[in-house]
Amino acid sequence: MSNRTFTIVKPDSVEKGNFGKIITRLEAEGFRVLGVKKVSLGDRQAQAFYAVHRERPFFGDLVRYMTSGPVYVAALEKSNAVPELRKLMGATDPAKAEAGTIRKEFGESIERNAIHGSDSDENAKSEIAFFFAEYELN
Ligand code: UDP
Ligand code: MG
Repeated sequence: MSNRTFTIVKPDSVEKGNFGKIITRLEAEGFRVLGVKKVSLGDRQAQAFYAVHRERPFFGDLVRYMTSGPVYVAALEKSNAVPELRKLMGATDPAKAEAGTIRKEFGESIERNAIHGSDSDENAKSEIAFFFAEYELN
């Protein structure tokens, strides 16, 4: 198990001023921020980041949503980081997410669900590398 994962505080969260609350929650749960930056994704970037979903019916809407406003991307550290973050995030659909999860508290719909989290160590590594050089991680 790797101790790194990757998150995006998504446009709905940034719009509503929830970035600080979400980062506070992550830190309170024992995640350390190795690197963080505010970025606005372009179409090509969002399409590449979500390439695994390109055949899915929601792909066009997902790219529009993820490019609709700025996001914060962050590399996080904790032991068993990937499953620990997935558990803290909750289910993709906030309506189905457990009480106390970030998506339950801050998500509004299956699309506008507040936060991204890597789903495997391999994807965490490539998603971190998509946005950060190793020297930016402290
Ligand atoms: N998504 C959506 N409709 C769906 C499934 C997913 O709009 O039916 C969006 C949602 O923002 C989700 C992202 O696409 O977070 C990636 O989907 P995935 O299945 O990887 O969910 P996640 O890993 O984020 O829980
Ligand atoms: Mg996913």
